Amino acid sequence: MSLDQVVAELFPQLKRQVRGRRMVYLDSAATALKPVTVIEAVRNSLAMETANVHRGAHLLSDEATEKYENVREAVRAYIGADSRSEIIFTRGTTEGLNLLAQCLGGLILSEGDEILLSQMEHHSNIVPWQMIAEKMRAKVKFAPINDDGSLDVNAFKSMLSPRTKIVSLVHLSNALGTINPIKELFALAHEVGALTVLDAAQSISSLPIQVSALGADFLVFSGHKVFAPTGIGVLYGRKEWLEKMPPYQGGGSMIADVTEEGTTFLASPHRFEAGTPAIAQVMGLGAALEFVKNLGFEKIHNHERNLMRIADEQFAKIPGLRRIGTAPAHAHVLSFLLGNSHPSDVGAILDEQGIAVRAGHHCCQPLMRRLQIPGTVRASFSVYTSEVDIMDLSKAVMKAKDLLL
Ligand code: PMP
Repeated sequence: MSLDQVVAELFPQLKRQVRGRRMVYLDSAATALKPVTVIEAVRNSLAMETANVHRGAHLLSDEATEKYENVREAVRAYIGADSRSEIIFTRGTTEGLNLLAQCLGGLILSEGDEILLSQMEHHSNIVPWQMIAEKMRAKVKFAPINDDGSLDVNAFKSMLSPRTKIVSLVHLSNALGTINPIKELFALAHEVGALTVLDAAQSISSLPIQVSALGADFLVFSGHKVFAPTGIGVLYGRKEWLEKMPPYQGGGSMIADVTEEGTTFLASPHRFEAGTPAIAQVMGLGAALEFVKNLGFEKIHNHERNLMRIADEQFAKIPGLRRIGTAPAHAHVLSFLLGNSHPSDVGAILDEQGIAVRAGHHCCQPLMRRLQIPGTVRASFSVYTSEVDIMDLSKAVMKAKDLLL
C-alpha cells in the first residue's frame, strides 16, 4: 500500500467535495491538512485540559505545564538540539525570523556588516533582515541562483567575507522545491565567522533535520506546515547565543523581577515567551511531530519521489508547459508555467475543476524578478497526496492549455 492509502483515513478534510467534485488538495506547501491525532489533541486540550501554564498553584495548571514542556522536549529531540532551553515557541516562521533579526541582528550588527541571503528566499527571510539592516546600517546581500533554480555555490562562497555576520538560507524552497546543500553552505559561512540561520518552513515535514549535523546556529519553522495548527512555530537557537540575546517582547512569564526602576529577565526559553502561549496549538504540534516520526522520513521521501516522477511523466506530454525549478536536489514542489499565460489564469481554471494549487509569486518576488517571470503555478505534495491527484491535475492542466494556448 502506498503512503497516501495508509494515511488517507486519518485526514478528514480529504472527504470534502469542492465545486461538486472530489477535493484535490495540492497546496500543502501553503499549509498542510491536519490528521485526526492533531485535531484530537487540540480538542482535548480545549475540552478537558484548559488551564494556564507556568502560573497556577493547582493541579490542572501543573498538568498543562508538564504537557506543554513535554512538547518542548519532543521538539528538541525531533531536531537534535542539545537542550530544551534552546527551543522557543513562536507564532511561526515569520515571528521566529523577526525575533532573530531584532534580538540577534540588533546585538551583533554594526555599520558595514553584511547579512547574506539567497535569491530564492521567502519574504519572511528577507524583510526582517532589511528592517534591522537599515537600523544598524548593515547591508543585505543575495547570493544568486542558476537557471535551474539551484544556488550558485561558487558565487555564494565569493560573497562571504569577514564582514558577513549572518547567513540565513531556506532549506527547501517553497517556490521551486530546490533543496539547498545546507551543510556545505553553513560550513563555508562558519569559516568566515558568520552565524547561520536555517528557514526550515518547508523541510520540517519532509527532510530529517539535525541542527548540529547541518551546522545551524538557529532554525525556524511553522507548525501548520507540518500538520499542526496555525499560530504555533519554533525557533531553535544555540544556548550560548540565546543567553546573550535580549528579550523580543516584554510581559508576563518572562521576568525574574520587576520593580518600578526596571526588570530582570528569566533565562531562555522563557525570556522569549512573553504572555500566555498558544497552549492548545502546542499540544497539536506535539501530536503532529509524533505523526511524522511514526511515518518515518524514508517513506515520506519515497512517496514524494514517486509522485514527482509521475508528474514529470505527465507534464512532459503537455505542449507549452514549462517547469520552473528543475535542480537535481528537489522535493515536494512542482512549479510551472503554460506558454505566456498568466499563472493566476491557470490557477483559476484548475480551481474550477476542484483542484487547489497556488498561483503567484509565492512571497518570493526577488526570485521571480531573477527568473523574469510574473510568478508560477505551484502544485505541492504531502503524505496524503495520491497518484490519482496527480493524474487529475495533469488532466486539468491539459484542459487549461486547450483554453489558454
Ligand atoms: N519560509 C518558507 C520557505 C515558507 O514556505 C513560508 C510559508 N510559505 C515561510 C517562510 C513563512 O511561514 P509562516 O507564514 O508560517 O510564518
